[in-house]
Parts: sequence; structure tokens; C-alpha cells
Amino acid sequence: MAQPLPRSPRGFMFDLDGTLILSDRKLGGYTAIPGAAETLAELDARGIPWIAMTNGSAYPAGVQAPKLRAVGLPVRDERLFTPNSVAARAMIERGYERVLVLGTQGVADALAEAGVRCVLPDDPAAHETDAVYVAWHPHCSMPDIHLACERVLDGAAFLTASDVPFFATKDGRSFGYSCAINGAVARVTGREPEPCGKPSALALKLIAEQLGLPEADVGVVGDDAVAEMQMARAEGAIGIAVASGSTSREQWAAQPPERAPHVVIDSVADLLTGGLIG
Ligand SMILES: [Mg+2]
Repeated sequence: MAQPLPRSPRGFMFDLDGTLILSDRKLGGYTAIPGAAETLAELDARGIPWIAMTNGSAYPAGVQAPKLRAVGLPVRDERLFTPNSVAARAMIERGYERVLVLGTQGVADALAEAGVRCVLPDDPAAHETDAVYVAWHPHCSMPDIHLACERVLDGAAFLTASDVPFFATKDGRSFGYSCAINGAVARVTGREPEPCGKPSALALKLIAEQLGLPEADVGVVGDDAVAEMQMARAEGAIGIAVASGSTSREQWAAQPPERAPHVVIDSVADLLTGGLIG
């Protein structure tokens, strides 16, 4: 089962959907992948650092992590990161004054908690924003898209939580709203968004910092060729693919080199038994 890795990971980033959990279509409930809780507990017992990062931006960590703990996964709030965590850091570093958020109240709350001044589309100040952030926004309206296009055409920065079209759930693949909204804005403005979630370099930088490791020593564990494996390959980390989510072993074998995992395991339950770490 184990294949030779370029080197042994010294810490891990775990994807959520399809890797540690399967969630239902309405994101109301989770099921833990069998063996996931035991793997995380064993990493803790061995003192190996890990974090979880989802491209889901619907809820802040303080809401999402307790749901994971409720199904037995030992994920403390401070170990769970979302694209909003990455976006907030970038927005503050770059000094954006006001950010137009196309997302749920949960998205705006997560950014505001981190110190970003968020403006929703119905706020008069929406016309004075210097950045646009597209995230989980199931009730996005055409006026929302119109406003985002106007801001981007006017020179506002264009960032997004995720530009991945689908993610794995218990019921099969589920639709990534932000990708659809991004597509509309990009088509109109001719500008592509800067993703803050996986596979962005911004995301892996935050992950490595949180683990206290160089990026090259991070094992990126996930079920999506673009979100996780492309990030690992592009940034020199170690890509560990699971076949428990949206990508089958056959599909993994067919990936181009820039999205190919270093190793494929059936699920996270095999992370410790497959001889991947010492
Ligand atoms: Mg996934």
C-alpha cells in the first residue's frame, strides 16, 4: 500500500470533506470517515502536529469545530482553518479598508472576528469597497453579482474562498457556489479571482506556519486533485491522496504530474498503518 515518499512528513494538513468527514448536502450534519478519529488521536499521542483545513467557508471555526467533535473527531477550534482564515490575514496585511463580502453572515462574521471591515451588498458603503470576497453564498442574487463586477471593474481586488466546482458529500458531489459566482464575475470583468483556500500558496503558507514546519515537511492529505494535490506539488509539500472522497484510485492514477499525489491510500485510517510516517 505504501509507496516511497520524497521524505517523511513531520506534520499534516487534513482536508475535511471526503477526507475526515462526509457532510450532508445542506451542510447540516457530518459523518466521520471510519478510522479518522483514531488516526488524529494517535498523531496527538506521538506529538506529531496537524491541523484541519476546509475550503468550506460557510461557518467560522467556532461553529464548525464543535460539530466535528460531536462526531468524535478531536478537532479543537484553533486547529480548524477555513479560507476565511487565510483571506483575513491577506486582507489585513494588504491594508484593505472595506471588503465587499458575497457570502453568508457566517462568512462576514469570520472575517470581522479577525479584524476585517466587512460590507454586505445591501449596505450603502458597498460602493466604496476596495476588495471583493466571494465565498459560500447560496442565495447570491444578480444584483450581488452586478455590484461585485462594478467594484472589480473599478479596481477593487478580487479574492475568493474557493474556486473548486464540486466537493464530496454523503450524497455525492455537491455544488461549489463560489466557483459559479467567480465564473460570472470573471466573465464580465476579464479578471480571475485570487483563491484564498486550497490550492493557493497563501493557504499552504498559513498551514506551514501553524504547524511550525517548512512547507516541504507538510503532508497534505486530501481527496481533491486540484485543492490538495496541486497545492502540495506547486509549493513543494508532500501530497497524500485518499480514495474515500470525490476521487477514485483510477482517477488518481490518471492525474497529470502537477496534480499527482506522491502516494494514494484508501482512507486516513491507513495513514499510520501504511508506513508513511516513522
Ligand atoms: Mg475534500
